[in-house]
Amino acid sequence: MERITPNVFTETKIRGCNPGIVFTSEGAVFIDSAQILTYLLDTIEFARSRGDIKYLINTEPHIDHIFGNHWFAGVCPVIAHEKINKDFFLVPGTMDGYDYSVDVLTRQDPKGLEHMPSREKYIVNRPQITFSENMTLKVGEHTFMLYHTPGHSDSQIAVYVPEERVVFVGDTVFSDCQLWLHSANIEELLKSLEFIHTLDVDYVIPGHGPVVTKSYLEEQIAFIQEWIKAVDQGIKKGWSKEECIKEISFADRFPVDIGQDEMMDYIQRTNVVKCFDYLEAQRIHP
Ligand SMILES: [Zn+2]
Repeated sequence: MERITPNVFTETKIRGCNPGIVFTSEGAVFIDSAQILTYLLDTIEFARSRGDIKYLINTEPHIDHIFGNHWFAGVCPVIAHEKINKDFFLVPGTMDGYDYSVDVLTRQDPKGLEHMPSREKYIVNRPQITFSENMTLKVGEHTFMLYHTPGHSDSQIAVYVPEERVVFVGDTVFSDCQLWLHSANIEELLKSLEFIHTLDVDYVIPGHGPVVTKSYLEEQIAFIQEWIKAVDQGIKKGWSKEECIKEISFADRFPVDIGQDEMMDYIQRTNVVKCFDYLEAQRIHP
């Protein structure tokens, strides 16, 4: 894993979310769990070689952040925002969460597939501890401040660890890769980015892409505004939603995060739809 501070590790070069570990004097706290099973099992072993695993915190319900929860069942409690249950283990498209995960492993981690339990044995390990606004967790000498930062998803949280000057933001930030707005509330997303900017941190650990500093939050806000502006200009030209989808794309700006190139068209289309609906709603309720 990449060492970010003396006690904070993450991995940004694998398919799926960037999983994080914070080592405290009482044991490890995981932030999300890797989707590539071979890698997940390695990270669990890495943590165990240093002591107990105390908690797993999920920053959002999307499958690439919670698929690995099975391997924490009976190991430690899972913590997340209370709204996470609504979308937990759901995936876009026709597959369910289990088949989707098997498909990913078959294509991208055949060695990991050998460790995938049967459907009957796989535990959809929902959080045992939830909160509605914010929550503070003390583990050893470390403080974990969990903030509800809705936008990318409505149960999105940020995990701020002041002793390490680090915040884990999940998919509120996509650094140097395509931004997914498919499940976003744009107004809330922008507010949450502004809020995260107020935290006193050296590192922002995004859901996807390399670890960044706070200045990237401004770039992320600017990119979202660029998306909105492009769609707004389309609307002003009289384009319908379908025409906006056809004409507007930021595909040349960034690659899709590792191992998901086939999602480029889906991202462009759903981002246009989200921006279009956001602008329409503003016209009705400015
Ligand atoms: Zn996500």
